[in-house]
Amino acid sequence: MSQAYKIIDHTYDAVVVGAGGSGLRATMGIAESGLKTACITKVFPTRSHTVAAQGGIAASLGNMGPDHWTWHMYDTVKGSDWLGDQDAIEYMVREAPAAVYELEHAGVPFSRTNEGKIYQRPFGGMMQNMGEGPPAQRTCAAADRTGHAMLHALYQQSLKYDADFYIEYFALDLIMENGQCRGVIALCMEDGSIHRFRSHAVVLATGGYGRTYFSATSAHTCTGDGGGMVLRAGLPLQDMEFVQFHPTGIYGAGVLITEGARGEGGYLTNSEGERFMERYAPSAKDLASRDVVSRSMAMEMREGRGVGAEKDHIFLHLDHIDPKVLHERLPGITETGKIFAGVDLTRQPLPVTPTVHYNMGGIPTNYHGEVVQLKDGNPDTVVPGLFAVGEAACVSVHGANRLGSNSLIDLVVFGRATGLRLKDTLKPGTSHNALPKGSEELALGRLDHFRNAKGGSPTAAIRLEMQRTMQKHCAVFRDNALLGEGQTKIAATYQRMADVDVQDRSLIWNTDLVETLELDNLISQAVVTMESAANRKESRGAHVNEDYPDRDDVNWMKHSTATFTGWGGTGGKVELGTRPVHDYTLTDEAEYIKPKKRVY
Ligand SMILES: Cc1cc2nc3c(=O)[nH]c(=O)nc-3n(C[C@H](O)[C@H](O)[C@H](O)COP(=O)(O)OP(=O)(O)OC[C@H]3O[C@@H](n4cnc5c(N)ncnc54)[C@H](O)[C@@H]3O)c2cc1C
Repeated sequence: MSQAYKIIDHTYDAVVVGAGGSGLRATMGIAESGLKTACITKVFPTRSHTVAAQGGIAASLGNMGPDHWTWHMYDTVKGSDWLGDQDAIEYMVREAPAAVYELEHAGVPFSRTNEGKIYQRPFGGMMQNMGEGPPAQRTCAAADRTGHAMLHALYQQSLKYDADFYIEYFALDLIMENGQCRGVIALCMEDGSIHRFRSHAVVLATGGYGRTYFSATSAHTCTGDGGGMVLRAGLPLQDMEFVQFHPTGIYGAGVLITEGARGEGGYLTNSEGERFMERYAPSAKDLASRDVVSRSMAMEMREGRGVGAEKDHIFLHLDHIDPKVLHERLPGITETGKIFAGVDLTRQPLPVTPTVHYNMGGIPTNYHGEVVQLKDGNPDTVVPGLFAVGEAACVSVHGANRLGSNSLIDLVVFGRATGLRLKDTLKPGTSHNALPKGSEELALGRLDHFRNAKGGSPTAAIRLEMQRTMQKHCAVFRDNALLGEGQTKIAATYQRMADVDVQDRSLIWNTDLVETLELDNLISQAVVTMESAANRKESRGAHVNEDYPDRDDVNWMKHSTATFTGWGGTGGKVELGTRPVHDYTLTDEAEYIKPKKRVY
């Protein structure tokens, strides 16, 4: 290390990294159980990416028509294209109604029916009667600002239970000792101080890595920092090839128009004015699952029926809906349409195109939030002291494709489950062993390296190259040739990290440095995503390889895993493996849902 850093030490029972919906729900639960809890976040909690979640949160409350948790389970398994773990899915859908009522009591101002019940809207792939239909109104909404409302309620509750918040602290790396997580090292971005958190449990709730792509609905903060830390700790990530493209990103801006817009009656048309979804999904139509709608749109554009001069987008119509309903149910969307597309939604269609939106893959966990790996022949070996929740994790309830409104419920159900697990397994105030000598070396060595990086490639240039490669070579449609070229390009971009140029040497509010650390996290996951995609020789959910157009349950109904060596352009070796899908339920009350062809 070229510079000695003064380290400020902290000791906690548990440390949560991330203050989005999942991190705050975990923080609230852990603190409520009397454990001394810290929450570290690089942005102010209520500015976490969850704030952008518009449409709502799925739970079979049955407020607006018949519903049952087994129907929600069926839809989620089918939505996942049978790659989801059915024990975890059962856990999520059974716990969902209680989790939503808990949010209501915590202060989330849900929209209401005339009788005062929580308002629920239809969402893609959510059906009644074990997939037979009609659509189920299952998605609980606070207008189109559900995530915003959740963050405020959960942050206030976490403060009530006395959790300590470290705001605008950037977590650099985990402290690992003999395969066990012992804490985390963070940089306070405000004053440049270095903090070492010693803790019995670290919960990674750092969100997705959508910013590996050029056009994404995710915030610029979605840089997969937790996934990067896990790879550097020598642990695998899972199912990274499954990247969700949302059908309705505003053309040119990438900003999301919620699926709730189609839930409220919106529909898509091509250049011929045809409602083409009727051809691709005769039953669910515009409310088929996201992978199906995105692919159908891509097909229309490929076959020359896209709209606009370049025939490279599609129209979303809301202009037939009563403006009063739009104002009441989708006020944010009306505003977004005006600002980002210059369109008055009450009169004109909105130009949209499939845009990267969600990462199904991430840090593998069981339904208690404990990080797992295949070790000594056991695919579910727990990594002691390490937990992951939310989009950073792969529990896996979304499998190969997530249904809209199933992320917010995943955040709160598994955030809560993590708190319960820690309550059961950790006594408040349990004494700590001394940390291993040099516990800070990886984190500070890397920090120091980038701080002094004087290469010829600006961070922004490497990032743009990565994003363009991912967008071109690992998007809605893939094939062997495209992926092969993508593997070569992304490996070369990774190596450019060795030549990165960081201008500013300071540790205080050095966005150049922080963006470089984030890019280093992103690029290892970009490489792993490309490699996992090239390796999977089938089409399933969001992963479509045109050289293998069918799902292959015999050879590929299994999770992919990938490890990655090195950082900063060194190493770069990917090792691929698999873990079995949990083809069993948690209790006898749920039947295992057997694979079948997925049609909507
Ligand atoms: C526009 C949009 C709309 C959506 N709408 C819906 C919806 O209606 N329903 C639904 O179910 N899903 C929706 N989703 C998906 C859903 O919002 C996300 O999957 C979810 O909010 C992710 O929550 P999270 O808690 O995992 O992470 P985030 O909310 O992304 O929070 C991550 C947290 O980690 C912190 N962090 C990250 N790295 C570090 C680091 N190095 N050091 C310290 N802190 C760090 C950040 O500060 C932040 O607090 C939507 C997604 C988008 C993009």
